[in-house]
Amino acid sequence: MVAKCGPLSTVREASGLRETISSWRSANYKIGLVPTMGALHEGHISLIRRSLSETDRTCVTLFVNPRQFGPSEDFSLYPRDELSDVKVLTDVGAHLLFAPEQAEMYPSDFATNVTISGLGDRLEGEFRPGFLAGVATVVAKLLIQAMPDVAYFGEKDYQQLLVIRQMVADLGIPVAIRAMPTVREADGLALSSRNSYLTPERRELAPILYRTLCKMVEGVVAGKQVKSLEQCAENELLEAGFDRIDYITIRDSQSLEQLNKVEKPSRALAAVWLGKTRLIDNISISDSV
Ligand code: AMP
Repeated sequence: MVAKCGPLSTVREASGLRETISSWRSANYKIGLVPTMGALHEGHISLIRRSLSETDRTCVTLFVNPRQFGPSEDFSLYPRDELSDVKVLTDVGAHLLFAPEQAEMYPSDFATNVTISGLGDRLEGEFRPGFLAGVATVVAKLLIQAMPDVAYFGEKDYQQLLVIRQMVADLGIPVAIRAMPTVREADGLALSSRNSYLTPERRELAPILYRTLCKMVEGVVAGKQVKSLEQCAENELLEAGFDRIDYITIRDSQSLEQLNKVEKPSRALAAVWLGKTRLIDNISISDSV
């Protein structure tokens, strides 16, 4: 099935995706890809809008990827509402939705796993084993299926973005990776499909994470030690009512290695728990130093 120019078309099979993409290629269109797990919000929409403005045709993918959820994680709970996502995509003007079933992406004999050594072992790699490999594997597959000119990712998932850049460079996948800034609520909370899990009380606490990251950056600018800033931030979050801190840390912005002093471009990154909801966020320090 070939996507029409105008209304959104949906394809569920890679063969349908390829057919549409090849018709776009024949027309010499520049193609943008926006991979998502659905439950679309303004963060996703910012990526789609950028793709629409920089390319001729935009394909959005919707696939809740089981390989990036651990056995005790929220795969079955993850919000799914394809009808409302289709409405969002239609309103914003995306051209094609690729929404495959699990068996299309992972037939029963699927055996490949893309892992990124070093970068993929730190932070999220430590606290969510299998997550980054799950992301890299599905993104590699989506990029190979769609072969876009540009693929769009959010800085909200900063380590994921770095891992994808590394994978694309290592495997020589001919696509430009474009990063978009994190879209936030007015109170600073980074938009996330998982924010819908928060109770009203926890939703009140959630923006403290962003404020704490901002305070860390101020501390760096004021010349404070990295270790003490990390310790203070952790204490402040626990005192404010956060239940558990996986990490809140200042790292080299490319390797995500630990730093004693901020001399190179760096990033403050955090993963913290409010009840059963895990929030992640990060901000750049380099711009402020
Ligand atoms: P997800 O559906 O959570 O897998 O996210 C799909 C894409 O949207 C990823 O590239 C995310 O980094 C990006 N994204 C998610 N939340 C935000 C946000 N608040 N601002 C910008 N991009 C985001």
